Amino acid sequence: MSPSTSVPLFLLFSCCFSCVGPSSGTGGGEEPPAQSPEAPDNLQTPDPLRTDEAAAPLVVTLLGTGYPRPQIRQFGPSVLVQAGVETLLFDCGRGAAIRLSQLQLPWAEVDRLFLTHLHSDHTVGIPDLWLTGWILGRFHPLRIWGPPGTEEMMAHLGEAFEFDIRMRRDVDEKAPGEGIRIMVEEISEGVVFDSMGIRVTAFEVDHSPIQPAMGFRIDYAGRTVVLSGDTRPSENLIAFSEGADLIIHEAVTPEWLRRSLPDHPEAFIQSVIDHHTTPQQAGTIFSRIQPRLAVFSHVENSEESARELINGVTETYSGDVLVGEDLMTIEVGAEIVVRLGVDTVYIGGSI
Ligand SMILES: [Zn+2]
Ligand SMILES: [Zn+2]
Repeated sequence: MSPSTSVPLFLLFSCCFSCVGPSSGTGGGEEPPAQSPEAPDNLQTPDPLRTDEAAAPLVVTLLGTGYPRPQIRQFGPSVLVQAGVETLLFDCGRGAAIRLSQLQLPWAEVDRLFLTHLHSDHTVGIPDLWLTGWILGRFHPLRIWGPPGTEEMMAHLGEAFEFDIRMRRDVDEKAPGEGIRIMVEEISEGVVFDSMGIRVTAFEVDHSPIQPAMGFRIDYAGRTVVLSGDTRPSENLIAFSEGADLIIHEAVTPEWLRRSLPDHPEAFIQSVIDHHTTPQQAGTIFSRIQPRLAVFSHVENSEESARELINGVTETYSGDVLVGEDLMTIEVGAEIVVRLGVDTVYIGGSI
């Protein structure tokens, strides 16, 4: 078991997109051309469910590991998954665009977003990704898979930013109109994406009364990553996590929550706890799933809180667990390799 500061060694793609765009007729429901990047000639498309040692690792980057409170160390929930030629984003909390910029990914490649649920801490970064990504080079639609209500939310965003869109597209820069379209597919439990050897399966979790709330299972070359989304202990999550190599799970420690919100009434605190998973409950879940590695995200990861998370989970689980940090990168292959950070913060001191 390792604290957060050390690295341990240790299924049909229904195509019913709706187009949501600003009011000047960019919507309309027509099918966009598939935006899957072309596979290089020498790259075989692996079977998502069959272990392929020759395939590149499945790479998971935690863009944001935080929760609603704004803080510089931890941006809002967002996870980037890269497998083969695909780049997929899961949730888009505060600062996701800044973290993507730190990774220096081409903006045109960040065009597929999956939403676990519509709580603001998971969606507040969407306008930045959508509008800034357009200005900086995504000249084709942003595609979003999300629960019912996603289409309406995106239509409202189009209305909210109508001035900016009209100016940049029609009056000033003449930015390509295709780039400001949002293609929405509202999803339910099942396979929601299957392309180039990567399969994404949505499953319902229990974040009630927020319904539906989803988790995601991502399969690629026989490697499996599960993202819990926001949930209290969920039998369905355990069922959909069978054989998972890596699980990224949310958690809340009651001690931290009471420290964090000292003036809130106990009923409010208890309601938050009841919507989420304690570290001890997470440990019980991990014991049943038996992943190769579990990582907490959507948590406070200060030294004190990380210790509480690890102390709690070790009461019920003896496998490897890390507390996530922003820009933690987890490569899932024959080994699991975890790295922290991409920035070079100092070059010098030479004599
Ligand atoms: Zn939530
Ligand atoms: Zn949340």
